[in-house]
Amino acid sequence: MANTWDYGPLGAEVKNRVKREWWNTFIRSRGDVVGLDSAILMNPKVWEASGHVTSFNDPLVDCKKCKERFRGDKILEEKLGVEAAAVLKLDQVKAMLDAEEINCPNCEERDWTEAKQFNLMFETKQGVVKGEGDSIYMRPETAQGIFVNFKNVVQTMRPRLPFGIGQIGKAFRNEITPGNFTFRTREFEQMEIEYFVDPDNIGDTFDEWQKAVWTWYTDLGIDKKNLRVREHEKDELSHYSSKTVDIEYEFPWGWGELFGLANRGDFDLAQHEKTSGEDMKYTDPDDAERKFLPHVIEPSFGCDRTILTFLIEAYTEEELENGDVRTVMKFDKRLAPVDVAVLPLSKKEPLREKAKEIYESLLAETNLVVDFDITGSIGKRYRRQDEIGTPLCITVDFGTIGEDAEQGDPDTLTIRDRDTLKQDRIPIGKLREKIAEYWKS
Ligand code: ATP
Repeated sequence: MANTWDYGPLGAEVKNRVKREWWNTFIRSRGDVVGLDSAILMNPKVWEASGHVTSFNDPLVDCKKCKERFRGDKILEEKLGVEAAAVLKLDQVKAMLDAEEINCPNCEERDWTEAKQFNLMFETKQGVVKGEGDSIYMRPETAQGIFVNFKNVVQTMRPRLPFGIGQIGKAFRNEITPGNFTFRTREFEQMEIEYFVDPDNIGDTFDEWQKAVWTWYTDLGIDKKNLRVREHEKDELSHYSSKTVDIEYEFPWGWGELFGLANRGDFDLAQHEKTSGEDMKYTDPDDAERKFLPHVIEPSFGCDRTILTFLIEAYTEEELENGDVRTVMKFDKRLAPVDVAVLPLSKKEPLREKAKEIYESLLAETNLVVDFDITGSIGKRYRRQDEIGTPLCITVDFGTIGEDAEQGDPDTLTIRDRDTLKQDRIPIGKLREKIAEYWKS
């Protein structure tokens, strides 16, 4: 299967760290947002209520010559720009492809079908009898899991408006044209918040979220010049939204959506109330007579897309003084997959034993991710850690074990900074303090 990706050991660590940063920033360190972990498989009526069964479609066009299928709006984007392509009506897509003389990206011929609506939800069967069972959907977004739990959260956590519910989890979309590495895949992870507000008192909530998200990205190392905000035109808005703003990133292939912020009004709660018959209203804690459906501001992040931007931003090639080029992943230190690497200058004993002792004490006494590497020359091992993005390398040499005064005093070691390449000689006893200092800076 093309366009299905797995994260290896280092990638999984980066992913966990991105999620941790997100959870810490938007849930743990805010008094007004709580977390949730809802199911992927839900009652199919949820997707009728949310509008996904009827409206979660993309315009599909077929090339009659080679039978390849494309998203009409996406192939028009290059010619017309994102805004103009996104507002095209279904019956305008083929005419526009012909008018703009756009050929099939696969076979270079021009023989398009009319565009038709293609629903992006994956269906599966629930039940144990082969050939029978009910059709259910794999969730195409995590948001609806939050809406159907709204009442439970209000009853158990007793939050006051405004408050949010956030969650991280997988979503599935049968994308017509997945691609550009992990930018668009059929299985991906989202990090979403539904922020419930009193409709009579929304204030600057939308702008505050936009600012908070922008700050999160830039604080974790995304250069401002690679980010821009784009507000959706009226015709482009999703069926549930009265205002949507995307934060876009300049990917190597052009600007693309990284994050979306939408004002969903009371669309979802009203729809679930109507479909389930369950009263979803919130009672004003200061006025028991006042019951209403809160409105919702939704910050929606793609986890994998976010990781992709961090990878692109971190990737650096640098020419060294000796003319060599080093590749270094300049991750923010909170996102690097390895925190510290312990490298004995040589794999000979007793150097290796000493280095291992330091490595094991860091593993046991800190919660850092620590790597231990003895394979290859020290230069090669530094390059390897640079490619991983390890912020600090600790080198144990013959000075450390009292066998070579020129390398350094006994019981000292060197600590190397990934970005400045500066190496400090410090006593072993100061190692923990130095590492802590670095993490505070
Ligand atoms: P696009 O216009 O790129 O299809 P969308 O507007 O459908 O995206 P939303 O429904 O707003 O996306 O989803 C929120 C976020 O989820 C997006 O900003 C993006 O980061 C992420 N996302 C959406 N679809 C995919 C996908 N197929 N693969 C990876 N991430 C995705």
